[in-house]
Amino acid sequence: MSKRIIAYLGLGANLGDPLSQLQQALALLHHSQGISVRQISSLYETSPVGYVDQPNFFNLVAEIDTVLPPSQLLCATQRVEQCLHRVRKERFGPRTMDVDILLYDQRIVEMPELTIPHPRLLERAFALIPLYELAGEMTIPSGQKIKEAIDALPQDQWIKKQPFSW
Ligand code: ADP
Ligand code: MG
Repeated sequence: MSKRIIAYLGLGANLGDPLSQLQQALALLHHSQGISVRQISSLYETSPVGYVDQPNFFNLVAEIDTVLPPSQLLCATQRVEQCLHRVRKERFGPRTMDVDILLYDQRIVEMPELTIPHPRLLERAFALIPLYELAGEMTIPSGQKIKEAIDALPQDQWIKKQPFSW
């Protein structure tokens, strides 16, 4: 039997009906072969970074266990994005669903199409704060505690907890 791995996925949406799309994405992930969603963080509303002239995002982090190797997990997360009719416009631009692999056990992955830990994890309050809820004491592969990474964030990111259930 393949080893079950704990991984953390960052989900975000800012077009259409973001909350319903997040619920659908979680259900699709949970029903994907080789993936079980174990728990989810609170939902956070955040203002866009980078390309700022777009609606606010709704983000959460899901803890999954999976038997899929990293590249197959990326295929599964991209299938979920496609199911929710993600239209890729600008990078960092509006989207109906974004699913990023934040962490995969303590593994470091450097492949052309996949970098784990996610390359922008340490810059993003909307990834670190929900991750802290699920794995407060965890050390990330850089050797930092999540709390230390949160304390090192620039103070200019607006983020607000919102009610959510799935
Ligand atoms: P972003 O999420 O950074 O705004 P996209 O969702 O448009 O950007 O992703 C662009 C590409 O990033 C994907 O096609 C994928 O191959 C690549 N990628 C690299 N590392 C990861 C990761 N850890 N999780 C998800 N996608 C990743
Ligand atoms: Mg992405």
